[in-house]
Amino acid sequence: MSRPIKKRTVQEPPKIQGMKPIGVPASFLDKVILSIDEYEAIRLADYEGLEHQKAAEMMNISRPTFTRLIEKARRKLAESIIAVKELVIEGGSFSFISDLIRCLDCGKISRFEDPNYIPETCPHCKSANIVHLNQWFSGGRGHGRGGRGFRGGRGGW
Ligand SMILES: [Zn+2]
Repeated sequence: MSRPIKKRTVQEPPKIQGMKPIGVPASFLDKVILSIDEYEAIRLADYEGLEHQKAAEMMNISRPTFTRLIEKARRKLAESIIAVKELVIEGGSFSFISDLIRCLDCGKISRFEDPNYIPETCPHCKSANIVHLNQWFSGGRGHGRGGRGFRGGRGGW
């Protein structure tokens, strides 16, 4: 019996489900899987520039755990670029604290802190053609407040 991993706090879902190398047919590509908690480690430390201690606190994990997490994440990013692999963002043990929707008509992304108040239309252009990004990542072990307000299909857009 394995001990359940404590859910790691992730501020908001990634805005994409992955990235593909240019110029290589998909059938020739291997994949590297970046978990959502690994993605968050990269975002906080390498994109936002936070100290590891601060980033660890934001994810509700210890600093040594954060350091292991980000080292793993960096190796995967390097692998995807150097070894030419498709980067797929999925899985991990995480809990989002806010919701993102993307409007398929104007392209804008809107963030919501209150899970009980996700609008049915884009706040910018009022289009109903929106995707709830949390929904993409709500399968598997992580739960991203999925299951509500998503009428855009199965995550493709
Ligand atoms: Zn819009």
